[in-house]
Amino acid sequence: MRGSLGGPRLLLRKLREVMAEPISPQERLDKIVEQIATNVVAEVCSVYVLRDDNVLELTATVGLKAEAVHQTSLKVGEGLVGLIASEARCLNLPNAQSHPAFAYKPETGEEIFNAFLGVPILRAGRMLGVLVVQNKSHRTYQEDEVEILQTTAMIIAEMIAAGGLEPLLKPGSALDVKRPMKLDGVGLGEGVGLGHVVLHEPRIVVSALIADDVPREAGRLEAAIEKLRISVDDLLSRSELDQVGEHRDVLEAYRMFAYDRGWVRKMEEAVKNGLTAEAAVEKVQSDTRARMLRQTDPYLRERLHDFDALANRLIRELMGRPHGPVSGELPRDAVIVARNMGAAELFDYDRDRIKGLVLEEGAPTSHISIVARSMNIPVVGQIAGVVSLVELGDSIIVDGELGTVHLRPALDVEAAFAEKVRFRARKQAQYRRLKSRPSITRDGHHVQILLNSGLFLDLPHLEESGASGIGLFRTELQFMVATSFPRIGEQEALYRRVLESAGGKPVTFRSLDIGGDKVLPYAQSFEEEENPAMGWRAIRIGLDRPGLLRIQVRALLKAAAGRELRLMFPMVADVSEYERAQALVEREKNFLKRLGYELPETIKLGVMIEVPSLLFELDELFAKVHFASVGSNDLFQFAFASDRGNTRLSGRYDPMSLPFLRMLKLIQDKAAEHHVPLTLCGELSGRPVEAMVLAALGYRSLSMSSSSVGPVKSMLLELDVGKLRARLLPRLEPGRPAEDLRAMVRAFAEEQGVPIQP
Ligand code: PEP
Ligand code: MG
Repeated sequence: MRGSLGGPRLLLRKLREVMAEPISPQERLDKIVEQIATNVVAEVCSVYVLRDDNVLELTATVGLKAEAVHQTSLKVGEGLVGLIASEARCLNLPNAQSHPAFAYKPETGEEIFNAFLGVPILRAGRMLGVLVVQNKSHRTYQEDEVEILQTTAMIIAEMIAAGGLEPLLKPGSALDVKRPMKLDGVGLGEGVGLGHVVLHEPRIVVSALIADDVPREAGRLEAAIEKLRISVDDLLSRSELDQVGEHRDVLEAYRMFAYDRGWVRKMEEAVKNGLTAEAAVEKVQSDTRARMLRQTDPYLRERLHDFDALANRLIRELMGRPHGPVSGELPRDAVIVARNMGAAELFDYDRDRIKGLVLEEGAPTSHISIVARSMNIPVVGQIAGVVSLVELGDSIIVDGELGTVHLRPALDVEAAFAEKVRFRARKQAQYRRLKSRPSITRDGHHVQILLNSGLFLDLPHLEESGASGIGLFRTELQFMVATSFPRIGEQEALYRRVLESAGGKPVTFRSLDIGGDKVLPYAQSFEEEENPAMGWRAIRIGLDRPGLLRIQVRALLKAAAGRELRLMFPMVADVSEYERAQALVEREKNFLKRLGYELPETIKLGVMIEVPSLLFELDELFAKVHFASVGSNDLFQFAFASDRGNTRLSGRYDPMSLPFLRMLKLIQDKAAEHHVPLTLCGELSGRPVEAMVLAALGYRSLSMSSSSVGPVKSMLLELDVGKLRARLLPRLEPGRPAEDLRAMVRAFAEEQGVPIQP
């Protein structure tokens, strides 16, 4: 009892006719199950659709009792159908009733059937329903029959996703694909944004599923796979690729998969059964995605992601878009959803249209988070699998404060959030009223609030926020947004505009901090490194390739003519590196002087303290520099050997803990002893609890993103620094019992009425 050879193709042809008929969705579905049953020679064929209440509703059947349609339902996990849905895998059983999960539903009359074959109905890895065939005899279905069922499941998936089946379901229920969802992640960028989903890597919609000409499709698939292989081989043979490194590993994995017989065979099989080449790739991809969602081992998940990426390339190749998706018009309220994203890629979007960003990965101090914060974009990260859960254009809310995302929210949720946005706006207005109040604590200490910046577009924030200057101008951001290396003239013009728009407030420039995860798109000649955060980056590049640093220093000296120039160097690991950088500035100054250029009125040079080795050379360092700034993002990652961009590690160690607070105190004490002005410009400064502790440790200058200025200032205005210091410092002494210092500080804030909400 087998489907005849050529059966799948015949079936697909028939299904195409059914899809084209002007009939109701129920009639269409009824005809589809009839055709499948005939083709597979099954006595039963049924479709169960997943509803928003996590219940699978029998939506069409041939063979089971007609009155059971829309009456019989199973929860996900219940019975064989529920098991298929919960595990997203197929079940092929000669004797279904002996399976432990079998659940008897008397209204269906299915007790007479023994053989059972069920496959999940998947779309982009997402579970939409279950398709089942049954027979009275104890038969085992053949592999080609499983294949037929999976292929037709794809067509039903399109019907479900298009929403046409919704009116058929039990009144009051809705399709699961449209179900509202609340997803918990981590807030990485302040604020609340309401908008519509835009996928950073758009999913390509394959609309032509059924092939007219099978040999032609097989040829197209073969040619596309060949092209894919050549392009991967080509990438791997590029001479600039180092022999080791993460990038290379990914490409090696791509190559392995591109030549994977199993993968190719599955796609060829799907084409033979009558799918178009792109639909065949998508069918196999959907299966991989479902496995990806089930996979808990991070390494294997990663490899499945590689497979997924490769399938995307192949689909693009087949659809004639090998060089990436053509992005359509961005909606006015776009919320970008991505697995992860490089900091530079964010600049490709029109800022005015972005209402939020949602990432599967991301950590608070990763550069994408920092850049998004500097652009005041609400960000939520670490939401596993979010890319598969959304569809382009879905409504979505990003709450960067609570770290939650609401997908397809119900109207009342949307209204509540719209209110939250208005509330935040009122709060911002309150903060703006504090704008001209000096940030003096209750017991009279002045704590200077500065801004972290790096792009011309954040400069208006200086005026709006009332910050007293720019404590960190990340010059590399300009390099990251450019398409080629900014020339000296362009650099000079930007730095001059920055100084001019700061209107006399101090600006601290930081020399180029590239390398690590700050990649310049046009500087491909940098070698791949196994450990880039600790690799050839920042001042190391500056000193080894002095040409780059010299040009930047020259541009800065010229831009600051007649004013004060404040310049600091990132990632300095010992005093000699600072001395070499200082000598370079000196040489440039003399050079310009000889040529008759006007020089800055004063030049102040400093270092960022972000490499722990420097902590053991603080006396020597502070004897030489004019100022210093603690880069707590890097200092923390190196002190705890905890990669700042690693999602799994974020939150594992607390900067508000004994070792790090002792470290911060040591730096501050030494700076005070040497009368060297000290700022902290890492992300810690912008969080009220952390800023409170920094003030207690003696820090009197904090540099942060513009959205943090209001919350930190309102905290400072209510803080009695002396009281907190008296409570905190004894706890940093040796021999004290272990204590949760963050909890202690929070309790202090509560008791003293210090506002610490961000
Ligand atoms: C830091 O490391 O704390 C810092 C401010 O520099 P960046 O985040 O740009 O590395
Ligand atoms: Mg740093």
